This record gives sequence, C-alpha cells and structure tokens, in this order.
Amino acid sequence: MHEPPLSLDDDKFHEECGVIGLWNVPDAAAVTALGLHALQHRGQEATGIVTYDGKQFHSHRGLGLVGDNFSDAKVIACLPGTVAVGHNRYATTGGTILRNVQPLYADFEFGGFAVAHNGNLTNAHVLHRQLVRRGCLFQSTMDSEVFVHLIAISLYSTVVDRLIDALKQVVGAYSLVALSNEALLGVRDPLGVRPLVLGRIGTGWVLASETCALDIIGAEFVRDVEPGEIVVINDKGVNSIKPFGRSTERFCVFEYIYFARPDSITEGMPVYTARKRIGAELAREFGVEADVIVPVPDSGVPAAMGYAQESGIPFELGIVRNHYVGRTFIEPTDHIRNLGVKLKHSANRAVLAGKRVVLVDDSIVRGTTSKKIVEMVRQAGAKEVHMRISSPPTTHSCFYGIDTPERGQLLASNHSVEEMAAIIGVDSLAFVSIDGMYRALGKPGRDPVHPHYCDACFTGDYPIALADQADNSDRQLSLLSAGS
Ligand code: AMP
Repeated sequence: MHEPPLSLDDDKFHEECGVIGLWNVPDAAAVTALGLHALQHRGQEATGIVTYDGKQFHSHRGLGLVGDNFSDAKVIACLPGTVAVGHNRYATTGGTILRNVQPLYADFEFGGFAVAHNGNLTNAHVLHRQLVRRGCLFQSTMDSEVFVHLIAISLYSTVVDRLIDALKQVVGAYSLVALSNEALLGVRDPLGVRPLVLGRIGTGWVLASETCALDIIGAEFVRDVEPGEIVVINDKGVNSIKPFGRSTERFCVFEYIYFARPDSITEGMPVYTARKRIGAELAREFGVEADVIVPVPDSGVPAAMGYAQESGIPFELGIVRNHYVGRTFIEPTDHIRNLGVKLKHSANRAVLAGKRVVLVDDSIVRGTTSKKIVEMVRQAGAKEVHMRISSPPTTHSCFYGIDTPERGQLLASNHSVEEMAAIIGVDSLAFVSIDGMYRALGKPGRDPVHPHYCDACFTGDYPIALADQADNSDRQLSLLSAGS
C-alpha cells in the first residue's frame, strides 16, 4: 500500500485541549474521568486516560465525549492504579483518527511514559522534519508527538533531564501533564500561555487545565503552575524546577473571553467575574438607549449581565439555546455552520417583539453566528438591534492552541466595524477596546511594550516565534506578510 509519509497537517494544527493528571489517588481512572468531564468544553472530539499501577501502564482512548468512553465500569476496571493522566481533544478539520487521540504513550529505555498536551508547538514542522531524517517513526499527525521523540533520543539519563532537553528544543505554547514510572510531571511553557493548576486531593495531588476540574473531584486548589515551571510530583511531594530562567508572563486572554469555564479561577480571578467586568466596561464605553440586554447564550451571558447591571437596562433571555447540539464552530463547512446556528439558538418572541435590543456576545469570528442571530431577532419583532462584543475585533489567527480559522476568514481581518455592522445587519456594533478589556481584568490598560497577556488574536502581536509559518506554508506566509 502506498501512503505518503505522515506529516503534521497545517489544518489540523490548532488544537484546544484539556489535560489532567493525578498522583496517589484511589480509583485514579474514575476520578480522572470526572475531571475530564468538567473539562469537556476544552475538547469534545476525543478523550483518553492512561494509568499506572506500580508495575504496568494501562490505556483507554476513544473518539467522542468523556461520557461516551468512560461511563462503563468495565472500562474503568481495566485502568487500575492510583496515578493517571487524561486528555480531551478538540481538533478543527478532517477526521479525528484514533492514532491522534491522547495521552500519547511510549516505552522508553527508562520505562513507560505517557503525555497529554494542551497548546500548539510553533516549530513542530521543523522539528518533525529533522526527527524523521534521523529515523524517528511518527505514529500520529499531532505536534505533541514531537515531545515523545525528543525525549526518546535525548542523551540525558533521567526522565526529568530528558524532558528539559526536549523542552529546550520546542517553541510554542504548551501545558503538559506526563507520567513516568516514577513521577507525575506538569509543565507550562515559558510564557504560560495555556493554563495549568495544581491541587491537593487527600494525600494525593492533581494537575489540571482549570480549577473546575478540581472542584468536581473535591480537590483543593493549591496554586497555578508558573510559566516556565516544571513540577515533579512523587511520594516525597512536589518539586519545582525552572529551567528556562525568568521570562515575562503572557497568559492567553482568550481563556477569559471565551474558552475557560466561567466557574474556573485563573491567575486569582474568577473567569465569571472577568467576563462580567468586561461587560460592564463595554457598557461604559459603548452605551446605547435600549429596552433589553440579551445575551447570545451561553458564552455571552456573564458579559451581558455585567452590561445590564452597569447600564441599568433589564437583562432578558431573548435567545434560547438548545443544549443538545455541539458548538457550531466545529461544523466543517459554511453551509452546515449556517444550519448549525439555527439548530442551536432560537428567538424568544415574548422578550423581543417591539423592543430595542442590545445583543451581547463574547466574540465575532467569521460572523456567521451573529448574522443568523440578528436575522432571528428581527424576525421575532425587535425594533432595533444593537450588538456589543465583549472582546476587541478578532483580526488574527491563533497559533498557540485556540482553534481559529485562517486570517482571511476572520470577519474583522478585512472589514471595518461599520462594514461588519452592515454585514451582520445591526443598527450599531461595538467591541470593547483593548485597553477597556485590560482595565476590566485589573490592569491599567495594555502596556504596548510588556502586555500582560497574549492578545495576538486581537493585536497581531505574536509573543512566541512562528517558525513553522516562516518555514514552509504559503498560506501562513501570506498570513504573516499581511501585517501580522
Ligand atoms: P462566528 O459565527 O464564526 O463569528 O463565531 C462566533 C461565535 O463562536 C461566538 O459566539 C463565540 O462564542 C464562539 N467562538 C469564539 N471562538 C471560538 C472558538 N475558538 N471555538 C469555538 N467557538 C468559538
């Protein structure tokens, strides 16, 4: 059979994922499954758990939701042990195939090693090519597999030294949770773009993408893993290593805007509070005379509450969401996406008829959702429709682990706000300013030299080198030359 060599596919490159790891927790697999369930919003395409029982590693990975794969007691019974790592995957295009489901597992000379990755390596293509030339046989098309090969060929002897050796060669955004025969390991990239928290559960430990995963398993939040920090957890406790020296933090601001669950706490700030505060800031910056504030559920709800409280205009559920369809964003074509919006949202005529409505959503990506919703709201009899967005215009693609389309497909990348308002069909459209967003998050504004967050999707200021784009993709080269 002739098959081209596996390559890391550009279009499959932007993954949003959730990770969790447990050390010294009875029934680790069942507890991990619960944690993954709380992190389901970070990835719905595939899920997996690897456990270690002191002698052997055990693994179960499958396509679909956590509940589809880990509700069966027989599956959990096949995953014995008190240590585990788990992963939820969300990939953008193409068939998600089983070989792309994490955690990845490999047998090394030092023993077994399982790793779960949230983020995106920006020099994975370059490294992939070098590794293939050296004889490494890739089993998946995931950038995360690069870690496994770099660790395998490292000349250092301990797992931790090999991991550090590998990390020094990769560039990108990553939160990793890994398991060896001796320890549970957690890593955040030097800028801390993706989140990772440490918690205590009984006499054991937990690492997870978000605090909502700690809450569901009854774990206590200890602290965020720091940017550039490796935590090594074993029966002696937690050892912290900082192999990269000091660098400034650039946590992903889009986690606050859209991605994280509202009941999670990041950098000491509840995501829910952050969203409400951005909504209030939006009301101060772009107030409008209206009768009702209506969120686009679910992601626009906290910002709409903040907007309503600040403006004194009543908050009403003018759009009802059907919870039994997936996120429209994962649908593959524009045609299906258009249908998807209708499947997901419907207008509540009782609230909208004859009213001046302010619709609040967290972001406009392609504009498909907004256009359909505005149409629906008008059909339900709204007199005026104003749209307020609780993030600045999304003008640039993310290369650090949030699924965004190519730059050309981002409505704000090639249209002014006025043009966007005409396309979406609203009487007025406004986005919170970048400084307003920073202020809502407790910062004085955006420091142009040392911005606190990674806000590349709003500013084009990419804090981590995009080696692969410069290296080999025409599409992304043109993306870079277009002003990013
Ligand atoms: P669009 O129709 O492409 O403009 O999508 C905008 C909607 O998608 C907003 O309501 C957001 O809540 C949601 N959204 C924004 N970013 C993402 C993302 N990375 N993945 C899935 N949904 C998203």
